[in-house]
Amino acid sequence: YAQTPLVVRGLRKEYADGFVAVSKVDFAVERNTVVGLLGPNGAGKTTTLRVLMGLTYPTAGEILVFGQRLKPGAPVLSRVGALVEGPGFLPHLTGYANLELYWKATGRPEAEARFDEALDIAGLGTAVHRKVKTYSHGMKQRLAIAQAMLGLPELLVLDEPTDGLDPPQIAEMRKVLRRYATDGRAVLVSSHLLAEVEQTCTDVVVMHKGQIVASGPVDDIVGDSPSVHLDVSDV
Ligand code: ATP
Repeated sequence: YAQTPLVVRGLRKEYADGFVAVSKVDFAVERNTVVGLLGPNGAGKTTTLRVLMGLTYPTAGEILVFGQRLKPGAPVLSRVGALVEGPGFLPHLTGYANLELYWKATGRPEAEARFDEALDIAGLGTAVHRKVKTYSHGMKQRLAIAQAMLGLPELLVLDEPTDGLDPPQIAEMRKVLRRYATDGRAVLVSSHLLAEVEQTCTDVVVMHKGQIVASGPVDDIVGDSPSVHLDVSDV
């Protein structure tokens, strides 16, 4: 598994009140794939991603990031980039200035940022030099994703990146994620909309009530599998 960006085995998360948000979750994210974690609100997607990013402790199970076992509470490897909680941008600064500020705050050398490549993949164009207060919701989403892409981490984890986007913006997001998942990189995104996953991902992991009910290449899973449609019918 050393070359596999992410392997999750037997993941369980029980909150302090005894509620089991995630149980028996097993899946992997291979290089050059965009994997969609799909499920209705409350299915356990955010909990899964938060555990992966070390933001909350798992009750049981193991997470391997490039073959390395993730220790609870330890900082996540620099090989992983994430957008889990929506970042706040300073509206009176340009998108570019916001990214520079973020990068400096993380204390990593400027040379590692790969700003131009990340901005190119994120498709921000010259808008990156405009003030953030002039941005549409879609632009802000893309800036947030560009921020997670700085340094071109080999695994990118995004929580609901298409939330609130209109169909043309979703089509654009597809291009961004597919462009990213090349050269051995991989993307894991969550979504509660089947159509979005169908459009943007190569593979899908379907979650329902904290468990995985189906997983595999999008074309195999989202076609005519009646059980999948049944399980996500309350999305
Ligand atoms: P959403 O799209 O709404 O974020 P989700 O699939 O990401 O949904 P989670 O946010 O992981 O779902 O939540 C899964 C379940 O765990 C929900 O029923 C939620 O109420 C519960 N939950 C989340 N955080 C806590 C907590 N701190 N304590 C107790 N229960 C929690």
